Amino acid sequence: MDISVVIPLKNEEESLPELSSWIERVMMENAFTYEIIMVDDGSTDNSWHVIEELHAVNPDIKGIKFQRNYGKSAALNEAFRMAQGNIVITMDADLQDSPDEIPSLYQMVVTEGYDLVSGWKKKRYDNVITKNIPSKFYNAITRRMSGIVLHDFNCGLKAYRKKVVKSIEVYGEMHRYIPVLAKWAGFRKIGEKVVEHRPRKYGVTKFGWERFVNGFLDLTTIMFIGKFGKRPMQFFGLWGTLAFLMGFIFILYLVISKIMYPGYALTNKPAFFLAIAVMILGTQLFLAGFLGEMISRSSPDRNSYLVEHRKGFSK
Ligand code: UDP
Ligand code: MG
Repeated sequence: MDISVVIPLKNEEESLPELSSWIERVMMENAFTYEIIMVDDGSTDNSWHVIEELHAVNPDIKGIKFQRNYGKSAALNEAFRMAQGNIVITMDADLQDSPDEIPSLYQMVVTEGYDLVSGWKKKRYDNVITKNIPSKFYNAITRRMSGIVLHDFNCGLKAYRKKVVKSIEVYGEMHRYIPVLAKWAGFRKIGEKVVEHRPRKYGVTKFGWERFVNGFLDLTTIMFIGKFGKRPMQFFGLWGTLAFLMGFIFILYLVISKIMYPGYALTNKPAFFLAIAVMILGTQLFLAGFLGEMISRSSPDRNSYLVEHRKGFSK
């Protein structure tokens, strides 16, 4: 199979028929073998029913329905696990991304050898204040911290070599940083392509202001995990030990002073309390590292979402 098109969606019933027939048309014109995986991420509208109807007409349209809303990252992750195409293309369900971009994205991976090609909404049709400006800021930080030169990390339209989606875990709000995940997983050839962006045709945006906070927290997590995720002790242990030693040396100094100069008052020295605090802090950090180490060694598959139905898969 050439292409798996992955579409995470929440309450997008109006867009789905139009989107799927557009994708079908593109696939026909280019003679691609394909599947379309629609992940219903806890919709409360008629989306799942629409997916069932689309599947009845075209079995290449497959559906996954989550028990509740787990988020876009979870939806992508679940579809990535099921995808069979050699190239996996993700796109939003709201018709803001154009299926006409599929052939050139596909070519970039297949013939130019990219592991991941991210869309770049150079001309963007979203709210300037709440979307466009903050997103420029986030992209700049992510570029700096990750060393990946992309303009639009969070673009919903992306193409991946199959191996990439099979080796990354997308959870939390990490869908914003998939290129970073891919880089950490060892995929180097990450590129971008300017893509056409369109105003949302039906429905409303699903991401409110919380995305600023969540996005920032996840960026910190991702940088930390990338560096120390598999060896937390080397971060916490180092700082814990340093803090503890610093406190210990201080205490030692104070105790020796006490012995050498009778009448030396320990407890009215700020350094005394500082030293104790730093020793306790150090022990805590060390313990955090130790716990982190135990967890990272014993956690099997952290990602098991409850899937209510699957449609169109052999089992
Ligand atoms: N989406 C999802 N789960 C969520 C929120 C969003 O699957 O919890 C889907 C949504 O239906 C759409 C895509 O993610 O297909 C992008 O969302 P949206 O268009 O609302 O984001 P925006 O374009 O405004 O950034
Ligand atoms: Mg959108």
